[in-house]
Amino acid sequence: MKKQKMSTLLTNFYNICEKNKIKITPQRIEIFKELIKNNDHPSVTKIYQRVKKKYPNISFDTVNRTLQKFVEIGIARVVEDFEDLRRYDGLIENHHHFHCIKCHRIIDIYDEKFKEVEIPKTLRDRFNILESKIVFTGLCEKCKPDE
Ligand SMILES: [Zn+2]
Ligand SMILES: [Zn+2]
Repeated sequence: MKKQKMSTLLTNFYNICEKNKIKITPQRIEIFKELIKNNDHPSVTKIYQRVKKKYPNISFDTVNRTLQKFVEIGIARVVEDFEDLRRYDGLIENHHHFHCIKCHRIIDIYDEKFKEVEIPKTLRDRFNILESKIVFTGLCEKCKPDE
């Protein structure tokens, strides 16, 4: 992730935490940074392993609860549970995902075409729809066989 984008996301993080009266601890900052750094939609385990390098005493439970808190206050999102693993996203702007069925990478998709997904009337009548996400699945450029 570009430095500038990272700092914008961090500023936003500080603001939202403050608004929700969440104490900004160095551990929480580290968890958020690890969430957004690689743009790879990490699982709790992945974030825990990364944060542990800097804070060896942090518990899995703390990381897990912190991430859930981030979702509650709207600073992170849960990407659809994929292969029984909950993966998190630090990008809350509207975007879609590509899931690779082989290496399990989740890649962000930005495309004008999908910016405003039209929700069919039958669905709008039936449900109270909050957002729509498109998930593409298949083999990523690294996993697809050479042609
Ligand atoms: Zn792949
Ligand atoms: Zn994403």
